[in-house]
Amino acid sequence: MKPILLFDIDGTLMHVKRAFTRNLIAEILHDFGIESNPLENGSYSFAGRTDKEIFTHLTRGSENSSKMYDEVKKKYLYYMKQNFSPNDTERIDGATELVEYGKKEKLKMGLCTGNYRESAFYKVDAAGYKDTFHFGGFGCNHADRKYIPGEALNDFEKLNGHSPPPERFVVIGDTPNDVRCAKHFGAISVAVTTGSFDAEQLRESNPDFLLSDLRQLIDYLPNL
Ligand SMILES: [Mg+2]
Repeated sequence: MKPILLFDIDGTLMHVKRAFTRNLIAEILHDFGIESNPLENGSYSFAGRTDKEIFTHLTRGSENSSKMYDEVKKKYLYYMKQNFSPNDTERIDGATELVEYGKKEKLKMGLCTGNYRESAFYKVDAAGYKDTFHFGGFGCNHADRKYIPGEALNDFEKLNGHSPPPERFVVIGDTPNDVRCAKHFGAISVAVTTGSFDAEQLRESNPDFLLSDLRQLIDYLPNL
């Protein structure tokens, strides 16, 4: 049985210009009168977090925080749709080759990302991965990333009409949280150092594979 690949986006498939997202979110928070936010001093990292977690954190001090969360989310997705362009992304070479290999071998490939579903597809489409990923787990419903592979499985089942066991899935990401969610789900975990964590930091999460370039996974895949 062929493995099913689940890709994280940021730091794994591509880099999104850091300034784009941070400036956009800072602008939206400013529009809503949220002046003091942890983005200003750069202390809050988005890496490995779900969008739900990030936006909940940024709006939690507001008077009606759940309404504010909904409004900020809506505006963020609107601006992403309007403004996100190929110039804001940079594909990661090894990932591009792995995806090409997956297409050639007709592997099922989905997303496993903390991004909201809509913004996930704005990003992969802008980076030239249109019509590559047809299902996934996204950061819309859960603040904790560990539930996202399970959502990807549900989405896979809706699309394909059957539900493969978790061990057929390979979760590929650049943060300890990607490894943690793979393990929680029971998938094979692949950590890659193309994002903001180095090998030493990723090793602590004990991934099944720790790679510096996703091309290296191509040799292992036929034996998984
Ligand atoms: Mg990432």
